[in-house]
Amino acid sequence: MNTSVSLSLRDVHLAFGRHQVLRGVDLDVASGGTACVIGPSGSGKSTLLRTVNRLLEPDRGDVLLDGRSVLRDDPDALRQRIGMVFQQFNLFPHMSVLRNLTLPLRRIRKLDEDEAVAQARAELDRVGLAAKADARPAHLSGGQQQRVAIARALAMQPQVMLFDEATSALDPELVKGVLALMAELSTQGMTMVVVTHEMGFARQVADTVAFMDAGVVLEAGDPAAVFESPQHPRLRRFLSQVL
Ligand code: ADP
Ligand code: MG
Repeated sequence: MNTSVSLSLRDVHLAFGRHQVLRGVDLDVASGGTACVIGPSGSGKSTLLRTVNRLLEPDRGDVLLDGRSVLRDDPDALRQRIGMVFQQFNLFPHMSVLRNLTLPLRRIRKLDEDEAVAQARAELDRVGLAAKADARPAHLSGGQQQRVAIARALAMQPQVMLFDEATSALDPELVKGVLALMAELSTQGMTMVVVTHEMGFARQVADTVAFMDAGVVLEAGDPAAVFESPQHPRLRRFLSQVL
């Protein structure tokens, strides 16, 4: 794994037209740390993740990796340092699992075929799916497809991983395996930002839990503080609905 980095957002603002969606987001994730972002639908969680890898550009504020602003970096170069996993796995349906991993390694990392295949197989092994290398994604369960998507992101050797409700589209019995893989990554020291509705995961795995509401992080702290003694009434109300 690449050496991980710290990640900070400073007063990040972003509007879609006149709709102010991020209104001054601050977030700090230590190197090798895991931040879970929780909060109601529409509060700006996905928008926040997209500003980290610059699928969206903030109007104001800063995004820092290891204390250095990335907003003037080449976006493509930045995205090579940051892996992202979505609710919908976004695998290429017409390609084998193996090819889903080797394609970006060849095109973006410029590995030759043998190197790409070796690295792809190693990552598939790591997520427990070495035996599925030649299968099409449609022949895998949702949980297996999501583990392939995670393996594809990891194959690029990112310094930060972003997860946007990675288990929300899965049947309940498939959620556990994906969360276990994410927890393992966290333990291994990957810097991660995890948007999730899985409060058990947030409580057990996160170093920091950040509660977003209406475009700001209203409250953040270690899981015990956020779950056991939430300060903000809005967070108390949210927790009473989801726990
Ligand atoms: P969350 O992930 O917390 O549910 P989002 O970040 O997806 O929230 O969305 C926050 C707000 O921004 C919502 O009101 C949503 O409708 C709006 N929004 C998100 N993406 C776009 C976009 N590309 N164009 C316009 N509005 C958007
Ligand atoms: Mg979202």
